[in-house]
Amino acid sequence: MVSDNLKALYEKLPSAVKLVAVSKFHPVSRLMEAYEAGQRVFGENRPQELAQKVPQMPSDVEWHFIGHLQTNKLKLVLPYVSLVQSVDSFHLLEAIDKWGSDNGKTVDVLLELHLGAEETKHGFSEEEIVTILNTAGEGGSHIRIRGLMGMATNTEDKGVIEADFARIEALFQRIRAEHPELRNTFTELSIGMSGDWPIAVRHGATMVRIGTDIFGEREY
Ligand SMILES: *Cc1c(COP(=O)(O)O)cnc(C)c1O
Repeated sequence: MVSDNLKALYEKLPSAVKLVAVSKFHPVSRLMEAYEAGQRVFGENRPQELAQKVPQMPSDVEWHFIGHLQTNKLKLVLPYVSLVQSVDSFHLLEAIDKWGSDNGKTVDVLLELHLGAEETKHGFSEEEIVTILNTAGEGGSHIRIRGLMGMATNTEDKGVIEADFARIEALFQRIRAEHPELRNTFTELSIGMSGDWPIAVRHGATMVRIGTDIFGEREY
C-alpha cells in the first residue's frame, strides 16, 4: 500500500529532509493515494506526463522536475514546477533564463553534478559548477540556483555510493563556504533514491527522491 510505504518513510526520514515522491510512469490514481496519505511534493521526469498530471491533481501539490529537459519542452514544465532539479547543461541554463525573462518569472533550479554513473552522461563537472556559481549573480538573471542534485553510480557496492555522495557533499559545502552571499538560497542537496537514501541522509541530503519504495516497481 502506498500509504503504508509513505508512513514508514515519514517515520524513518529526519524531519528536515524533504521527501520528493517520484511518481513517473504511475497513474494519477496512485498519486492520489499518496496525496491522501499526506504527500504534497511529487517528482516527474517526462514533460508531457507532467503536463498531463498537473491539472488532474489538487492545486497544492508542489511539483519538481527531475529528468533530462530539452529546451523545446520548457513550456510544458516551467509553468508548473517549483523546482527544476536536473539542470545539466549551459544551453539549458540559458534557455531557462530566457524563458524566465520572457515570462517575468525567476525559476528555482538545482545544478546536476555528473557522478560516477556511466549509464547517464547528463550533468556538469565540478569545475563547471564552480564556474557557473562564480559568474552567476550580478543581477538580471531569471534563475535562482538553489543547490545541487546527483545520482550515485548504479551499483550494489556501498563504498562506491558512499564515495559519490561524499564528493557531491564536499562540493556543496565548498560552494557554501566560498559564497557567503548565497547562504540563504544555495541550501539544497538532492541526493538519495529508493536503494541508497539512508547513505544520502548521512551525507547531508536535504531532499531525497523516492519512487519504487513508495509506489512499487514501474511498468515501462
Ligand atoms: C526515477 C528517479 C528516481 C527514483 O528512483 P527509485 O529508485 O524508484 O526511488 C530518483 N531520481 C531520479 C532522477 C529519477 O529519475
